[in-house]
Amino acid sequence: MKILVTGGCGFIGSNFVLRQLEIHQNQVLNLDKLTYAGNIDNLSSIKNHKNYQFFQGDICDLKLVESLIGDFKPDVLVHFAAETHVDRSLDNPEKFILTNVLGTSNLLNASLKHLMHNKSFLFVHISTDEVFGSLSKDGFFNENTPYSPKSPYSASKASSDHLVRSWKNSYNLPVIITNCSNNYGPFQFPEKLIPLTITNCIDERILPVYGTGENIRDWLYVNDHCDAINKVITKGVVGETYLIGGNNEIKNIEIVKKICSILDNLRPRQNGESYKSLIKLVEDRPGHDFRYAIDCQKIHTELDWEPKESFLNGLEKTILWYLDNEEWWRKIQKKNHKQERLGLKKFKS
Ligand code: NAD
Repeated sequence: MKILVTGGCGFIGSNFVLRQLEIHQNQVLNLDKLTYAGNIDNLSSIKNHKNYQFFQGDICDLKLVESLIGDFKPDVLVHFAAETHVDRSLDNPEKFILTNVLGTSNLLNASLKHLMHNKSFLFVHISTDEVFGSLSKDGFFNENTPYSPKSPYSASKASSDHLVRSWKNSYNLPVIITNCSNNYGPFQFPEKLIPLTITNCIDERILPVYGTGENIRDWLYVNDHCDAINKVITKGVVGETYLIGGNNEIKNIEIVKKICSILDNLRPRQNGESYKSLIKLVEDRPGHDFRYAIDCQKIHTELDWEPKESFLNGLEKTILWYLDNEEWWRKIQKKNHKQERLGLKKFKS
């Protein structure tokens, strides 16, 4: 199978590309703009693989997208490329609208042209559970939950989901949409909660937690997400939406404490204190969604997928990865980081 991946140098995209080459033996063309979140190093292990090609480019460039799709002739397009960080969307929503909305519509238009030459082509759109807004203490999102996005990030992803659905309804483009909960694992950019906490522990810096830390997310190990997408590609029904989650709801403050406990064992602090003493509650994010939780019955019963990794095991594997790959995240810190955002200056202990 020939798969065109957009955003393959990002966190989930690079894990997906690695698995497609190493496990599924598919041919991959990766189109990525290499924004601050894209990292060519993530795929250095396969850069010379005979089944892998990389093209640095912007999905907002329609001509480029059309020519790449026309030349590569993919069987499947898996669309990960997006601006993804909620905090950054609060500072700069326009970028999110451009890439997530306009970029997606370019890919849909170019795919429609390509469909004339490959009738079995499939467009898989990777989206988020954040499009559904926030839950209170009870209930779960499912495929029938109405959209109610609350941040510029989730609103731009919701817009892209609507466009994808409309290209199916209006032009019969074969599409499938997935909405997944929070992912964690190797190669996650170190401004997101789990890698930020791990790397700040290693540097003995303050561990910032929004509000009271009571916000709840459903966490899924990234390889479980990649395997779910593979199931969707091979067994999914065109026109359907599948929700993907980890059955794994945890409060933010609990995650930070778990990371501290694991690191207390793996890498005890020199002063003998627990890393927990570095935790600091900070001013809440505006419009911070309280709880996300997914009912993933549909993908379980129809596509025979369920998460394999337990949270504690996945978290320990992730922490070990960041300990073993310090060079990877130090390079990113040097190149990109905004000190305040990463909690290195404002919250410095
Ligand atoms: P990421 O921010 O780590 O990576 C995004 C990638 O897209 C980067 O490599 C970046 O260079 C590339 N990109 C951005 N703008 C581009 C453009 N205009 N043209 C080409 N490439 C561009 O994101 P991620 O966390 O890997 O998320 C991937 C997808 O999965 C996103 O669509 C996101 O909405 C969705 N998702 C993420 C999560 C999560 O927990 N991370 C959960 C559910 C869904």
